[in-house]
Amino acid sequence: MLGSASSAATYRIKPGDTLSGIAVRAGVTVAQLRAANPALRDANSVQAGRVLTLPGRVLPATRYRVKAGENLTVIAQRVGLTLTQLVRANPKYAGGKPVWVGAIIQIPARTVAARTGTAATVRPAAIRVNPVSPASSGAWLWPVAGYRTVSSDYGSRVLDGVREMHYGIDIVAPTGTLVRAARSGRVLESRPDFDRGWGWTVVLEHPDGWITRYAHLSANLARQGEVVTRGQPIGRVGNTGRSTGPHLHFGTYLRWSPRDPLSLY
Ligand SMILES: [Zn+2]
Repeated sequence: MLGSASSAATYRIKPGDTLSGIAVRAGVTVAQLRAANPALRDANSVQAGRVLTLPGRVLPATRYRVKAGENLTVIAQRVGLTLTQLVRANPKYAGGKPVWVGAIIQIPARTVAARTGTAATVRPAAIRVNPVSPASSGAWLWPVAGYRTVSSDYGSRVLDGVREMHYGIDIVAPTGTLVRAARSGRVLESRPDFDRGWGWTVVLEHPDGWITRYAHLSANLARQGEVVTRGQPIGRVGNTGRSTGPHLHFGTYLRWSPRDPLSLY
């Protein structure tokens, strides 16, 4: 398994190796390799037999859906974190609270040991994570293609010093990005809703009692009463209403009872 997250691996240069080739196999950039090996002057000076320090790789923050039989200890090992680090990123599980299958775990950005370049020493379990993907969404389409970063989760949060419930998720995307209907349905609302802070908003009603809200839009592309199909553009990402930067607020409700959108993907 992966050792300490900051432990550096080493690699003995073989005849024919290049710095860029070693970097690619280690999953780091040449600049990172040079920074970890100040003695290297230029790529041509790479000599067989020299031992290089392979710097750790920084992996971006992501999310992980808990599978059957997994607990936080297993997941921490899998993604290259200590249990303490993982719990710190998911404070609701502090004190040994159980995680359920299907729960979404936040995986913070982390540094893992470099791959050392041969098949025998690659540790795929340490780097293979299972980000929530549209492919697993079933009937639900992710409303902004290509943008997966959620800046604010569903649930209790503090905004402007006030604790509040956030009935939806905030997906970061540039102003103007198309917002698509997560499912087919009918447009219940398409209007400016500044009184409640939503800004320009589209609300869709789906046939089985689900309702989806798309807020802070820069443009509304669907009219009230219109029938829309899954994937149809209904608006554009914006920063209208009570919003501190371009993002889509995406809310999901079952008969107006709020549900975590990420539990649906
Ligand atoms: Zn929001």
